[in-house]
Amino acid sequence: MPDAGRLVPTSSAVPPRGALLLRDPRLNKGTAFTEAERDALGLRGLLPPHVCTLDEQVTRVMENLRRLPDPLSKYILLEALQDRNETLFYRVVTEHLDETMPLIYTPTVGAACQQFGHIYRRPRGLFISARDRGRVESVLRNWPEREVTMIVVTDGERILGLGDLGANGMGIPIGKLALYTACAGVAPAGCLPVMIDVGTGNAALRADPLYLGLRQPRLTGADYDALVDEFIEAAQCVFPRAIVQFEDFGNHNAFRLLARWRDRICCFNDDIQGTAAVAVAGIFSALRVTRQPLSQQTFLCLGAGEAATGISDLLVAAMVEEGLTPQAARARCWLFDSQGLVVAGREALAEHKRPFAHPHAPLADFTQAVEQLKPTALIGVSAVAGGFTQATLQAMARINARPIIFALSNPTSRAECSAQQAYAWTGGRALFASGSPFAPVPLGGQTFVPRQGNNSYIFPGVGLGAIACRATRITEAMFMAAARTLAAQVSDADLVQGSLYPPLSQVREVSARIGAAVAAVAFDAGLAGVARPADLLDHVRQTMYTPVYRSAA
Ligand code: NAD
Repeated sequence: MPDAGRLVPTSSAVPPRGALLLRDPRLNKGTAFTEAERDALGLRGLLPPHVCTLDEQVTRVMENLRRLPDPLSKYILLEALQDRNETLFYRVVTEHLDETMPLIYTPTVGAACQQFGHIYRRPRGLFISARDRGRVESVLRNWPEREVTMIVVTDGERILGLGDLGANGMGIPIGKLALYTACAGVAPAGCLPVMIDVGTGNAALRADPLYLGLRQPRLTGADYDALVDEFIEAAQCVFPRAIVQFEDFGNHNAFRLLARWRDRICCFNDDIQGTAAVAVAGIFSALRVTRQPLSQQTFLCLGAGEAATGISDLLVAAMVEEGLTPQAARARCWLFDSQGLVVAGREALAEHKRPFAHPHAPLADFTQAVEQLKPTALIGVSAVAGGFTQATLQAMARINARPIIFALSNPTSRAECSAQQAYAWTGGRALFASGSPFAPVPLGGQTFVPRQGNNSYIFPGVGLGAIACRATRITEAMFMAAARTLAAQVSDADLVQGSLYPPLSQVREVSARIGAAVAAVAFDAGLAGVARPADLLDHVRQTMYTPVYRSAA
């Protein structure tokens, strides 16, 4: 009997019946097949007699999920459910996003990637390896779906804050695409996770007998570029409607690939551009509290990588919209990396840091940099736990009535400070957001409810909007529109309790609105591939997948 698992197309001429149907995750309803469907589709006797509702099935999954002792076991349960019954999987995830997002994505997905070769059960996504040079297009044609709209691709070199995980990094595109569907209703049939396996510099992995990737050092230079180029060109040919999202590439390749492709195909890099939009949205919210213009802020990032430069670039664009020159806007953004303050004249400065290397004496101490530059906002994107010390935050509180403190590094163990520390060390005056979730903080008779500056507020809606209007490019203006739209979803009541983002439970509505805003930018810029509908928001909503069973009898 052929494997009717997730790699088998459901759009085949003869729809599956009986036992095969129960193995097709896209069509399977399990115990929810109705009496009529059981008769019509040869299922009688293959299922227990009681016909369940989708809600009953969700209850059963959640009961089983909550019984498991650790997050990785829960991840494996959800992965198995996705392989068995896609509708039920997305219903569970959508209804219990707060509980399941940390399982299907960070932080648990990090552990799942580390253990990829050990917990592996069934294939999902496409593996393109260095051995496929010259035949990448034929590899892509093996994918059973033709209408691919969203590709998330990684080479596994910088997986979350965990470094080079080689082919194990496949867990990230899989998780990210699950969020496209759960958070924005991007149809799962259009989602394609891709791992470009160029080898790994992780010697421990190469020595692991259960490692599933190429056991060779990473390709570099022209060989690397040729393989990635071949993939992108083949993807354009085989899946002409697909948006390509670059994910968790190492610094040196991430910036290069984005620069090479952003004006040639419909693509973006979430680590750089999605992070930027979510952070800038949080800044917009904070400025609603301080009632100060953006153009009078001074930003100091701890970290000078993909997130820091992406955020700084978008802040500059926003300040230019407020009337500053690009030069004046850049002068308000400072970076501080592992060698200290990024200043003009520093030797061997990486290309992406140069726009923010301003004239200043070198400084190795971060708190000193705060004292001297007097920033209104600190943005932590260094993955250095405790990077915002008590002295740093007390300095910020001396300089500012309402210091803006974003500790965005993930996972929780890497956060620059905790929510408790941010509020306690600033006398409850911090406007705080974090990359990882923190519980509400009671302090001085008030309870602060910090929320996550989580990319999941941004990239699903950007993808949704770009798909809905068949965008030909993803531009900075689209991320700016996404940031403004996200900020507009923050209520005054949210701000009063210290929340700079809306609740995660509203993410589908947020995504629909971001989708409409992104599509509007595409239409205005002549970058849309369809005629402009009268009601963009309604049009975007109509394209959203909802996890419900459709009659099969
Ligand atoms: P990256 O590797 O590109 O950059 C890390 C930067 O930190 C580098 O510039 C490095 O020089 C700097 N750094 C390292 N040690 C330092 C030290 N001791 N002092 C100061 N700087 C130091 O990584 P990235 O993609 O920019 O991500 C950075 C962090 O931000 C990660 O923890 C990531 O999880 C987090 N992040 C969070 C979100 C979110 O949604 N909240 C989004 C993207 C990234």
